[in-house]
Amino acid sequence: MSDSLFTRIIRREIPADIVYEDEHVVGFRDINPQAPVHVLFVPRTPIATLNDLGEEHAELVGRLVLAAAAYARREGFAERGYRTVFNCNEDAGQSVFHIHLHLLAGRRLGWPPG
Ligand code: 5GP
Repeated sequence: MSDSLFTRIIRREIPADIVYEDEHVVGFRDINPQAPVHVLFVPRTPIATLNDLGEEHAELVGRLVLAAAAYARREGFAERGYRTVFNCNEDAGQSVFHIHLHLLAGRRLGWPPG
């Protein structure tokens, strides 16, 4: 299988505004932001969808959430609030098949989501 778009961003083969990096996770700004802050947190290990997760990925998924929370604290909007979202497959509108946690912030976010 060819490398995912996000693997190519992680490898710097495709440009992106990378705002967070650790050993396991890379965060970069969404190309089509839905809020003033819209960052995608992506594992360096490519996994297509949440349906492909196993027990062995429990720590990695936790790391995605921790990375988003650390970024929110670092950027100063943690107390004000933010939303994190994983889209899975067609009904949720997943368009890139390399799991990613959306972090949205910087405006009041409606609920329920569209
Ligand atoms: P999904 O719909 O799969 O949950 O989210 C994929 C996200 O990736 C979308 O919000 C879309 O705007 C973003 N995206 C798609 N292609 C690119 C790209 O080339 N660069 C960046 N930075 N984001 C992208």
